Amino acid sequence: MSDSADPPGPPSFHLDGRLYVREMQNWKAVVKQDFAKLYCHAKMPGEDYYHLLTGGEIYLDDGESQLCLNCAVRTGVLTTDRQHWQREAKPTEIRVVPDRDVGLE
Ligand SMILES: [Zn+2]
Repeated sequence: MSDSADPPGPPSFHLDGRLYVREMQNWKAVVKQDFAKLYCHAKMPGEDYYHLLTGGEIYLDDGESQLCLNCAVRTGVLTTDRQHWQREAKPTEIRVVPDRDVGLE
């Protein structure tokens, strides 16, 4: 095995394993404190079941639904883009255009 072999784990986690929540006001990261049945709110494409969240698992909760981290990344709730907030589409800025500039005078 050479030194250039990839370390174990998903490729996206090799350089930086930190994750960022795009809508940070809406979601909380939670560590599941028990083994009571709780399911991820999303399904992976092609799967016909919900993911069982297990004790000790970190998941996201927005007060209405829970997402496992795989689904949170897949659906774009989480990103590895540290500067995601600079790349988000911002609402168009509304500015006042003087009447003379639009030919109304
Ligand atoms: Zn899931």
